Amino acid sequence: MREYEVVVLGAGGVGKSALTVRFVNDSFLEHYNPTIEEQYRREIAVDGEHIALEILDTAGAEQFTALNEVYITSGHGFLLVFSLTHEASLHDLDNIRQQVLHIKQGEPDLPIVIVGTKMDLYNEREVTSGALQELATSWGIPFYETSAKRNWNIQEVFQDLTKQMKAR
Ligand code: GDP
Ligand code: MG
Repeated sequence: MREYEVVVLGAGGVGKSALTVRFVNDSFLEHYNPTIEEQYRREIAVDGEHIALEILDTAGAEQFTALNEVYITSGHGFLLVFSLTHEASLHDLDNIRQQVLHIKQGEPDLPIVIVGTKMDLYNEREVTSGALQELATSWGIPFYETSAKRNWNIQEVFQDLTKQMKAR
C-alpha cells in the first residue's frame, strides 16, 4: 500500500485537531487543547486505490521552529488551515505557505489544500467566500470551507490532497 505523510498547519485554535479527529475517528473534538501534537493513521480509498495517510496534527505552527522544518521536510502533502471566523488566521497562512515553499524549494506541484474551518458558525464569520476564493486563486491552491462539527467537506479535503500526492 502506498503511504503518504500529511502535515496539518495553521494558527492555534483554528480547528486543526478537530479537522484531523473528524477525519480519523469520525467524532467531534469539543475540547480545546492547544499543546497536543499527535500523529494519526488512516486509510483512504482514492480512485479505487487504498492509500495509508500518516497525519501529523501540529501545535503552534504560526511560530516557526526547527521542528516545523523537520515535519515539512518529510511531509508529502500540506493542509493550510484557518478559521472562517477569524480573519487574521487566513493572513497567517501566507507566512506558513512561504515557509513550506521555501523548505520544499524547487519541488513543482507541491500538494497543498487550503481549509477554512467552522463554517457552521455563520454569525461569527469574518471571511467571505469571495475573499477566500480570490486569495486561493492567486496562490493557485484549491480550497474548501468545512465544519468538523457538522462533518461538512472533511472527506473532500483529504480526497483532494491525496489525489494531488498520488499524481506526483
Ligand atoms: P487547533 O488548535 O487548531 O488544533 O484547534 P482545535 O481543533 O483544538 O479547535 C479549537 C476550538 O474550536 C475547539 O473548541 C473546537 O471544538 C472548535 N472547533 C473546531 N472546529 C470547529 C468547527 O468546525 N465548528 C465549530 N463550531 N467549532 C469548531
Ligand atoms: Mg490542536
